[in-house]
Amino acid sequence: MTAERIDLEALKSTISITQVAERLGHSVVRGKIRCPYAMRHAHGDRTPSVSISESKGLFNCWVCPDVRGDVIKLVEISKNLDFKGAISWLQNEFGMPTGNSNEALPMPMIKVVHKAPEPEIDPILRAKIILAFFEKLSPVEGSPAAPWLIKRRIFKKTWEKMRLRVITDYDRVNRSLLDQFGLEVLQKAGLFNDKGNLRYYKHRLLFPYLDTKVIPRFFQARSIEPDTQPKELNLRGQVPFPFHVSLLDGEPGWIYLCEGCVDTLTMIDRGFPAVGIPGVKSFKPEWANLFKNKNVIVCLDQDEAGRAMTRVVVDVLQKAGIKASPLGEGITVESFKMAEGQDINSWFGGKK
Ligand SMILES: [Zn+2]
Repeated sequence: MTAERIDLEALKSTISITQVAERLGHSVVRGKIRCPYAMRHAHGDRTPSVSISESKGLFNCWVCPDVRGDVIKLVEISKNLDFKGAISWLQNEFGMPTGNSNEALPMPMIKVVHKAPEPEIDPILRAKIILAFFEKLSPVEGSPAAPWLIKRRIFKKTWEKMRLRVITDYDRVNRSLLDQFGLEVLQKAGLFNDKGNLRYYKHRLLFPYLDTKVIPRFFQARSIEPDTQPKELNLRGQVPFPFHVSLLDGEPGWIYLCEGCVDTLTMIDRGFPAVGIPGVKSFKPEWANLFKNKNVIVCLDQDEAGRAMTRVVVDVLQKAGIKASPLGEGITVESFKMAEGQDINSWFGGKK
Protein backbone atom coordinates (compact mmCIF):
# COMPACT_ATOMS: atom_id res chain seq x y z
CA MET A 1 0.00 0.00 0.00
CA THR A 2 1.33 3.40 -0.89
CA ALA A 3 1.45 5.73 2.02
CA GLU A 4 -0.85 8.66 1.52
CA ARG A 5 0.36 11.92 2.90
CA ILE A 6 -1.86 14.88 3.14
CA ASP A 7 -0.54 18.31 3.78
CA LEU A 8 -3.23 19.51 6.15
CA GLU A 9 -2.45 23.19 5.85
CA ALA A 10 -2.60 22.92 2.05
CA LEU A 11 -5.87 21.04 2.32
CA LYS A 12 -7.38 23.67 4.55
CA SER A 13 -6.18 26.51 2.37
CA THR A 14 -7.73 25.03 -0.78
CA ILE A 15 -11.11 24.49 0.81
CA SER A 16 -13.82 27.05 1.47
CA ILE A 17 -15.21 26.67 4.97
CA THR A 18 -18.45 28.29 3.79
CA GLN A 19 -18.87 25.66 1.07
CA VAL A 20 -18.10 22.91 3.53
CA ALA A 21 -20.65 24.31 5.99
CA GLU A 22 -23.28 24.34 3.26
CA ARG A 23 -22.40 20.81 2.15
CA LEU A 24 -22.83 19.77 5.79
CA GLY A 25 -26.38 21.12 5.64
CA HIS A 26 -25.84 24.37 7.54
CA SER A 27 -27.49 27.42 6.13
CA VAL A 28 -24.91 30.19 5.98
CA VAL A 29 -26.43 33.63 6.33
CA ARG A 30 -24.11 36.64 6.46
CA GLY A 31 -21.24 34.52 7.68
CA LYS A 32 -23.22 32.79 10.43
CA ILE A 33 -24.73 29.37 10.99
CA ARG A 34 -26.82 27.88 13.74
CA CYS A 35 -24.87 26.01 16.38
CA PRO A 36 -24.64 22.24 15.75
CA TYR A 37 -25.52 21.97 19.46
CA ALA A 38 -28.67 24.04 19.09
CA MET A 39 -30.20 22.42 22.17
CA ARG A 40 -27.69 24.19 24.36
CA HIS A 41 -29.06 27.50 23.16
CA ALA A 42 -32.21 29.37 24.02
CA HIS A 43 -34.82 28.95 21.26
CA GLY A 44 -32.70 26.32 19.49
CA ASP A 45 -30.26 29.02 18.39
CA ARG A 46 -32.87 30.66 16.18
CA THR A 47 -30.55 33.65 15.87
CA PRO A 48 -27.36 31.92 14.71
CA SER A 49 -24.46 32.09 17.18
CA VAL A 50 -21.68 30.53 15.12
CA SER A 51 -19.52 32.88 13.06
CA ILE A 52 -17.67 31.58 10.04
CA SER A 53 -14.55 33.37 8.90
CA GLU A 54 -13.97 32.55 5.26
CA SER A 55 -10.66 34.41 5.21
CA LYS A 56 -9.28 32.60 8.26
CA GLY A 57 -11.00 29.28 7.59
CA LEU A 58 -12.29 29.19 11.17
CA PHE A 59 -15.61 29.03 12.99
CA ASN A 60 -16.55 30.02 16.52
CA CYS A 61 -19.74 29.70 18.60
CA TRP A 62 -20.23 32.64 20.93
CA VAL A 63 -21.87 30.43 23.52
CA CYS A 64 -20.25 26.99 23.46
CA PRO A 65 -16.56 27.05 24.43
CA ASP A 66 -16.01 23.75 22.59
CA VAL A 67 -17.59 24.76 19.28
CA ARG A 68 -14.73 26.42 17.47
CA GLY A 69 -11.90 25.50 15.17
CA ASP A 70 -11.01 24.87 11.57
CA VAL A 71 -12.85 23.25 8.69
CA ILE A 72 -11.90 19.74 9.84
CA LYS A 73 -13.29 20.39 13.31
CA LEU A 74 -16.49 21.68 11.75
CA VAL A 75 -16.91 18.37 9.92
CA GLU A 76 -16.09 16.42 13.09
CA ILE A 77 -18.75 18.24 15.11
CA SER A 78 -21.42 18.35 12.42
CA LYS A 79 -21.06 14.72 11.34
CA ASN A 80 -20.04 13.33 14.71
CA LEU A 81 -16.83 11.96 13.16
CA ASP A 82 -13.34 11.65 14.52
CA PHE A 83 -10.43 13.48 12.94
CA LYS A 84 -9.61 10.80 10.36
CA GLY A 85 -13.26 10.34 9.57
CA ALA A 86 -13.58 14.06 8.90
CA ILE A 87 -10.60 13.99 6.52
CA SER A 88 -12.12 11.08 4.64
CA TRP A 89 -15.45 12.87 4.40
CA LEU A 90 -13.73 15.96 2.98
CA GLN A 91 -11.81 13.86 0.48
CA ASN A 92 -14.98 12.18 -0.68
CA GLU A 93 -17.11 15.27 -0.87
CA PHE A 94 -14.55 17.57 -2.37
CA GLY A 95 -12.54 15.14 -4.47
CA MET A 96 -9.24 15.76 -2.76
CA PRO A 97 -6.46 14.15 -4.78
CA THR A 98 -5.52 10.86 -3.17
CA GLY A 99 -2.91 9.62 -5.65
CA ASN A 100 -4.74 6.35 -6.07
CA SER A 101 -8.32 6.82 -7.13
CA ASN A 102 -9.05 3.07 -7.23
CA GLU A 103 -8.62 2.77 -3.53
CA ALA A 104 -11.85 3.42 -1.74
CA LEU A 105 -11.61 5.60 1.33
CA PRO A 106 -7.84 5.56 1.73
CA MET A 107 -6.83 6.07 5.31
CA PRO A 108 -4.40 8.92 5.02
CA MET A 109 -1.23 9.19 7.01
CA ILE A 110 -1.60 12.62 8.37
CA LYS A 111 1.36 14.86 8.17
CA VAL A 112 0.64 18.02 10.05
CA VAL A 113 2.51 20.97 8.67
CA HIS A 114 2.60 23.74 11.20
CA LYS A 115 2.38 27.31 10.07
CA ALA A 116 5.38 29.46 10.77
CA PRO A 117 5.09 30.55 14.41
CA GLU A 118 4.10 34.12 15.20
CA PRO A 119 7.10 36.38 14.91
CA GLU A 120 8.91 36.41 18.20
CA ILE A 121 9.71 39.54 20.06
CA ASP A 122 11.88 39.87 23.10
CA PRO A 123 9.43 40.34 26.01
CA ILE A 124 11.58 43.08 27.50
CA LEU A 125 11.49 45.02 24.24
CA ARG A 126 7.72 44.52 23.98
CA ALA A 127 7.28 45.82 27.52
CA LYS A 128 9.43 48.82 26.66
CA ILE A 129 7.30 49.58 23.59
CA ILE A 130 4.05 49.37 25.55
CA LEU A 131 5.47 51.70 28.19
CA ALA A 132 6.74 54.17 25.56
CA PHE A 133 3.35 54.08 23.87
CA PHE A 134 1.56 55.03 27.09
CA GLU A 135 4.02 57.82 27.76
CA LYS A 136 3.02 59.38 24.43
CA LEU A 137 -0.69 59.42 25.28
CA SER A 138 -2.83 62.16 26.82
CA PRO A 139 -4.92 62.25 30.00
CA VAL A 140 -8.65 61.60 29.70
CA GLU A 141 -9.49 64.98 31.29
CA GLY A 142 -10.63 67.44 28.65
CA SER A 143 -10.88 64.82 25.89
CA PRO A 144 -14.11 63.48 24.31
CA ALA A 145 -13.55 60.30 26.36
CA ALA A 146 -14.32 62.18 29.59
CA PRO A 147 -18.05 62.78 28.92
CA TRP A 148 -18.24 59.28 27.41
CA LEU A 149 -16.98 57.77 30.67
CA ILE A 150 -19.12 60.03 32.85
CA LYS A 151 -22.21 58.93 30.93
CA ARG A 152 -21.24 55.41 31.97
CA ARG A 153 -20.86 56.57 35.57
CA ILE A 154 -17.10 56.16 35.58
CA PHE A 155 -15.63 59.28 37.10
CA LYS A 156 -12.34 61.11 37.26
CA LYS A 157 -11.06 59.51 40.46
CA THR A 158 -11.31 56.11 38.76
CA TRP A 159 -9.89 56.99 35.34
CA GLU A 160 -6.94 58.66 37.11
CA LYS A 161 -6.38 55.81 39.54
CA MET A 162 -6.47 53.26 36.70
CA ARG A 163 -4.29 55.50 34.46
CA LEU A 164 -6.64 55.56 31.47
CA ARG A 165 -5.25 57.44 28.50
CA VAL A 166 -6.42 58.71 25.12
CA ILE A 167 -4.85 59.21 21.72
CA THR A 168 -5.53 62.86 20.89
CA ASP A 169 -2.99 63.36 18.10
CA TYR A 170 -2.92 60.06 16.22
CA ASP A 171 -0.37 61.18 13.63
CA ARG A 172 2.06 62.37 16.24
CA VAL A 173 1.87 59.14 18.26
CA ASN A 174 2.13 57.06 15.08
CA ARG A 175 5.20 58.91 13.82
CA SER A 176 6.88 59.14 17.16
CA LEU A 177 6.66 55.36 17.71
CA LEU A 178 7.98 54.68 14.21
CA ASP A 179 10.91 57.00 14.79
CA GLN A 180 11.74 55.41 18.10
CA PHE A 181 11.37 51.69 17.29
CA GLY A 182 10.94 51.12 13.54
CA LEU A 183 8.01 49.39 11.86
CA GLU A 184 9.11 45.77 12.01
CA VAL A 185 9.42 45.59 15.75
CA LEU A 186 6.19 47.56 16.27
CA GLN A 187 4.35 45.02 14.14
CA LYS A 188 5.89 42.15 16.08
CA ALA A 189 4.82 43.81 19.32
CA GLY A 190 1.24 43.83 18.02
CA LEU A 191 0.72 47.62 17.92
CA PHE A 192 1.04 48.21 14.19
CA ASN A 193 -0.96 46.69 11.34
CA ASP A 194 0.22 45.20 8.06
CA LYS A 195 -0.23 48.56 6.34
CA GLY A 196 2.34 50.06 8.68
CA ASN A 197 0.10 52.13 10.92
CA LEU A 198 -0.77 52.19 14.60
CA ARG A 199 -3.88 50.00 14.93
CA TYR A 200 -5.78 52.38 17.18
CA TYR A 201 -7.04 54.97 14.75
CA LYS A 202 -10.65 54.54 15.80
CA HIS A 203 -10.00 53.01 19.22
CA ARG A 204 -8.54 55.96 21.05
CA LEU A 205 -9.47 55.31 24.68
CA LEU A 206 -6.82 53.06 26.23
CA PHE A 207 -7.28 50.80 29.27
CA PRO A 208 -3.86 49.73 30.55
CA TYR A 209 -3.40 46.39 32.31
CA LEU A 210 -1.16 47.60 35.11
CA ASP A 211 1.07 45.14 36.91
CA THR A 212 1.64 45.23 40.66
CA LYS A 213 4.23 47.97 40.12
CA VAL A 214 1.61 50.03 38.22
CA ILE A 215 3.41 49.53 34.89
CA PRO A 216 1.23 48.90 31.80
CA ARG A 217 1.95 45.40 30.44
CA PHE A 218 -1.03 45.02 28.13
CA PHE A 219 -3.99 47.11 27.09
CA GLN A 220 -7.37 47.22 25.47
CA ALA A 221 -8.40 50.05 23.22
CA ARG A 222 -12.01 51.26 23.04
CA SER A 223 -13.78 53.25 20.40
CA ILE A 224 -16.14 55.88 21.77
CA GLU A 225 -17.91 56.26 18.42
CA PRO A 226 -21.21 54.38 18.51
CA ASP A 227 -20.84 52.59 15.16
CA THR A 228 -17.32 51.20 15.33
CA GLN A 229 -17.07 47.42 15.13
CA PRO A 230 -15.51 45.86 17.05
CA LYS A 231 -15.94 48.29 19.92
CA GLU A 232 -12.74 47.09 21.57
CA LEU A 233 -9.36 46.12 20.17
CA ASN A 234 -6.85 44.19 22.24
CA LEU A 235 -3.17 44.50 21.86
CA ARG A 236 -2.25 41.44 19.81
CA GLY A 237 -0.63 38.59 21.68
CA GLN A 238 -1.11 36.96 25.05
CA VAL A 239 -3.14 38.61 27.80
CA PRO A 240 -0.66 38.33 30.69
CA PHE A 241 -3.09 38.67 33.62
CA PRO A 242 -6.55 40.02 34.44
CA PHE A 243 -7.27 43.75 34.42
CA HIS A 244 -6.55 45.34 37.85
CA VAL A 245 -4.44 42.34 38.89
CA SER A 246 -2.91 44.23 41.82
CA LEU A 247 -6.01 43.32 43.85
CA LEU A 248 -5.10 39.64 43.58
CA ASP A 249 -2.63 39.79 46.43
CA GLY A 250 -3.29 36.43 48.08
CA GLU A 251 -4.89 38.11 51.12
CA PRO A 252 -8.38 37.00 52.19
CA GLY A 253 -11.17 39.15 50.72
CA TRP A 254 -13.87 39.57 48.11
CA ILE A 255 -13.26 39.95 44.39
CA TYR A 256 -15.81 40.82 41.72
CA LEU A 257 -14.76 39.30 38.41
CA CYS A 258 -16.16 41.34 35.52
CA GLU A 259 -16.28 41.15 31.74
CA GLY A 260 -14.45 43.95 29.96
CA CYS A 261 -12.79 47.07 31.28
CA VAL A 262 -15.93 49.22 31.28
CA ASP A 263 -17.77 46.89 33.68
CA THR A 264 -14.69 46.51 35.86
CA LEU A 265 -14.20 50.27 36.04
CA THR A 266 -17.89 50.68 36.91
CA MET A 267 -17.45 48.41 39.92
CA ILE A 268 -14.20 50.08 40.94
CA ASP A 269 -15.89 53.47 40.77
CA ARG A 270 -18.60 52.20 43.17
CA GLY A 271 -15.87 51.06 45.56
CA PHE A 272 -16.03 47.34 44.83
CA PRO A 273 -12.80 45.31 44.59
CA ALA A 274 -13.12 44.32 40.93
CA VAL A 275 -10.86 42.69 38.36
CA GLY A 276 -11.67 42.09 34.70
CA ILE A 277 -11.15 39.68 31.85
CA PRO A 278 -11.05 41.12 28.32
CA GLY A 279 -13.99 39.14 26.99
CA VAL A 280 -16.37 36.39 27.88
CA LYS A 281 -14.08 33.67 26.57
CA SER A 282 -10.76 34.97 27.77
CA PHE A 283 -10.56 33.58 31.30
CA LYS A 284 -7.47 31.39 31.41
CA PRO A 285 -7.61 28.38 33.73
CA GLU A 286 -4.01 29.03 34.78
CA TRP A 287 -5.18 32.32 36.29
CA ALA A 288 -7.17 30.44 38.93
CA ASN A 289 -4.17 30.47 41.28
CA LEU A 290 -4.08 34.25 41.20
CA PHE A 291 -7.43 34.21 43.04
CA LYS A 292 -6.02 32.31 46.02
CA ASN A 293 -7.78 33.18 49.31
CA LYS A 294 -10.41 35.28 47.54
CA ASN A 295 -14.13 34.88 47.62
CA VAL A 296 -14.97 35.46 43.97
CA ILE A 297 -18.27 36.80 42.65
CA VAL A 298 -18.46 36.24 38.91
CA CYS A 299 -20.27 39.16 37.25
CA LEU A 300 -20.32 38.39 33.54
CA ASP A 301 -23.05 39.70 31.26
CA GLN A 302 -26.59 38.53 31.88
CA ASP A 303 -26.99 36.89 28.50
CA GLU A 304 -26.59 33.41 27.19
CA ALA A 305 -22.86 33.63 26.49
CA GLY A 306 -22.26 35.30 29.85
CA ARG A 307 -24.17 32.67 31.79
CA ALA A 308 -22.45 29.81 29.97
CA MET A 309 -19.04 31.28 30.71
CA THR A 310 -19.99 32.03 34.32
CA ARG A 311 -20.58 28.33 34.86
CA VAL A 312 -17.18 27.53 33.34
CA VAL A 313 -15.32 30.15 35.41
CA VAL A 314 -17.04 29.23 38.68
CA ASP A 315 -16.21 25.59 38.01
CA VAL A 316 -12.54 26.28 37.22
CA LEU A 317 -12.14 28.38 40.36
CA GLN A 318 -13.93 25.90 42.60
CA LYS A 319 -11.78 23.05 41.28
CA ALA A 320 -8.74 25.11 42.24
CA GLY A 321 -10.15 25.32 45.77
CA ILE A 322 -11.33 28.90 45.50
CA LYS A 323 -14.72 30.07 46.72
CA ALA A 324 -16.67 31.30 43.73
CA SER A 325 -20.29 31.97 42.88
CA PRO A 326 -22.25 33.84 40.23
CA LEU A 327 -23.46 37.35 41.03
CA GLY A 328 -27.01 37.24 42.31
CA GLU A 329 -26.88 33.72 43.71
CA GLY A 330 -29.13 33.59 46.72
CA ILE A 331 -30.66 36.97 45.97
CA THR A 332 -34.43 36.76 46.16
CA VAL A 333 -35.33 40.40 45.55
CA GLU A 334 -36.02 40.51 41.81
CA SER A 335 -35.15 44.20 41.43
CA PHE A 336 -31.62 43.52 42.72
CA LYS A 337 -30.92 41.03 39.96
CA MET A 338 -29.47 41.85 36.57
CA ALA A 339 -32.16 41.69 33.90
CA GLU A 340 -31.74 39.74 30.67
CA GLY A 341 -29.29 41.51 28.38
CA GLN A 342 -27.83 43.68 31.15
CA ASP A 343 -24.21 44.05 32.03
CA ILE A 344 -22.70 45.52 35.18
CA ASN A 345 -22.50 49.00 33.68
CA SER A 346 -26.17 49.11 32.66
CA TRP A 347 -27.17 47.50 35.98
CA PHE A 348 -25.63 50.48 37.77
CA GLY A 349 -27.48 52.88 35.48
CA GLY A 350 -24.78 53.58 32.90
CA LYS A 351 -26.09 54.78 29.53
CA LYS A 352 -24.86 53.41 26.23
ZN1 LIG B 1 -23.19 26.74 20.43
